[in-house]
Amino acid sequence: MPASPFSWLDEEARRRHRDGLVRTLRPRPAASDLLDLAGNDYLGLARHPEVTSAAAAAAREWGGGATGSRLVTGSTRLHAELEGELAAFCGFEAALVLSSGYAANLAAVTALAPHGTLVVSDAGNHASLIDGCRLARGTTQVVPHADPQAVRKALGTRAGPAVAVSDTVFSVDGDAAPLAGLAAACRAYGAGLVLDDAHGLGVLGAGGRGAPHAAGLAGASDVVATVTLSKSLGSQGGAVLGPARVIDHLVNTARTFIFDTGLAPAAAGAALAALRLLRREPGRAGRVRAVAAALHAGLTAEGLEAVRPDAAVVSVRAASPERAVRWAADCRAAGVAVGCFRPPSVPDGVSRLRLTARADLTDAQVDRAVRVVSAARR
Ligand code: PMP
Repeated sequence: MPASPFSWLDEEARRRHRDGLVRTLRPRPAASDLLDLAGNDYLGLARHPEVTSAAAAAAREWGGGATGSRLVTGSTRLHAELEGELAAFCGFEAALVLSSGYAANLAAVTALAPHGTLVVSDAGNHASLIDGCRLARGTTQVVPHADPQAVRKALGTRAGPAVAVSDTVFSVDGDAAPLAGLAAACRAYGAGLVLDDAHGLGVLGAGGRGAPHAAGLAGASDVVATVTLSKSLGSQGGAVLGPARVIDHLVNTARTFIFDTGLAPAAAGAALAALRLLRREPGRAGRVRAVAAALHAGLTAEGLEAVRPDAAVVSVRAASPERAVRWAADCRAAGVAVGCFRPPSVPDGVSRLRLTARADLTDAQVDRAVRVVSAARR
């Protein structure tokens, strides 16, 4: 037999093993005593009975899947209601629901950056924005992290159309983007601004209306936001929010909208129920921020190097990828699940634990999490 064309993968696997970068899949137990600070269920809504009942009812009414593209059979009444209510809640003219936040980012960036467009992208952006830039026909210039001055400089080099793209809250360190500075830079050069508010929706802004709303940018004719339905809204899916002309353009041109099966009705129903809950109980947004602040204060008091959280993510520095993996495993053994970030998810030298605050955590659970994470480091 000739050598397999895939045998080069074995060398890659050996290198991953040597560098402590092996990733493994582990099914999450259906019910456990594990205190979960690893998921992104920021408002504690994924298991809320109103959310799970809405998912079940939607599946019974519409089926287990959307059955086709949104443009063919995949749009239900639930999708339309979700789009209307999301846009109104976040303060935008219109919204378009896609099958994931990842697909929403690919749609927004590729559709708004055709050939001849400059895309100015923050160095800390999420992989889905990076991939949007890679797929777009325009030219991408990566600028230093959270640096409006660098965005200005990049825009100043260009005469044609341009957009700047940035996370509102960066997913690994949990720091917020300088939105006012970014908007001013874009406006000085007539550029559009695309903001990924995956970690802002439900956490930032009045009652969780998101970072663009908090910054006074929601509904502006030059601003587009993307969100995921999989974090604060406890479901699955994503959306693009923006001016009606942008949404209409996406419906007609965005490949991850047109050629993708629509979001499952159960996910649309669950997200809609979660959004309605959030409108009814706006205090959940403030609570998740308070829990994040308490986690940070506790960890810092224990001498750990934690980034001050601007939203729900609390990032704690680890000495090496191997230490981060062992630290996370020891936390888990002591009953607390935390995230562990290593290259290639983060640059070399900044491996870290990632703790996510949840609105439904009690003060006693926060104290326990701090004790376990701190003890496991030793
Ligand atoms: N953007 C950011 C900043 C994210 O953290 C994520 C999810 N990890 C996404 C986009 C992708 O969203 P989804 O999981 O819904 O595809």
